[in-house]
Amino acid sequence: MCGIFGFVGNRSAAPILVEGLRRLEYRGYDSTGLVVRNGSLKMYKKVGKVSELSKILPNHIEGNMGIAHTRWATHGSVTDSNAHPHLNEDESIAVVHNGIIDNARALRNRLESKGIKLSSDTDSEVLVHMITIGIKSGQEPLEAVRQTLNRVTGTWGLCVLFEDYDLIICARNGSPLIIGQGVGESFVSSDPHALSQHTQNIFFLDDGDMAVID
Ligand code: GLU
Repeated sequence: MCGIFGFVGNRSAAPILVEGLRRLEYRGYDSTGLVVRNGSLKMYKKVGKVSELSKILPNHIEGNMGIAHTRWATHGSVTDSNAHPHLNEDESIAVVHNGIIDNARALRNRLESKGIKLSSDTDSEVLVHMITIGIKSGQEPLEAVRQTLNRVTGTWGLCVLFEDYDLIICARNGSPLIIGQGVGESFVSSDPHALSQHTQNIFFLDDGDMAVID
């Protein structure tokens, strides 16, 4: 169980996400990654320190909304493809997840039997494909995430980013998640320490809570 940082506002998201990841570093982790929304979703992820991720980031990434993750592997080895975020097959939805999905094995089998190709060995990746099925069947983002979480057991601090929707969905169950409200911008993190430089106006989600940041 490691760290999450997210941002929605008018400023360029990538430098804020990288700084957020640095503030989570003291907790220990094995991989990092981030995804920024700008028309499409641009994802970068890497085994190693935040400094390793910084090496593969372009000088400028357009986009004012994104989510980032530091991973402490529980399911699947420490590889670039197992690092978070995880994308769905058409790269229109991304998730970062802290915690453990207990029934991931059964859910993976069900997804694979529907012809869905998973691209990591993590428990977390099932979430993005299940949310995609909900969206494809006409559900709004909040409903698609809620229905997905109704079908999983385990723990989560979860953030979901959509190419086609101007928002981030957050959910907490057994893994901390805190929303920070700035002036014309919002933040989310698993650790209040990572928010303190941006705002003192913070809200702790309780287990079972969901939040929409837009
Ligand atoms: N269970 C997930 C994984 O192994 C998330 C681990 C974490 O909380 O960092 O990728």
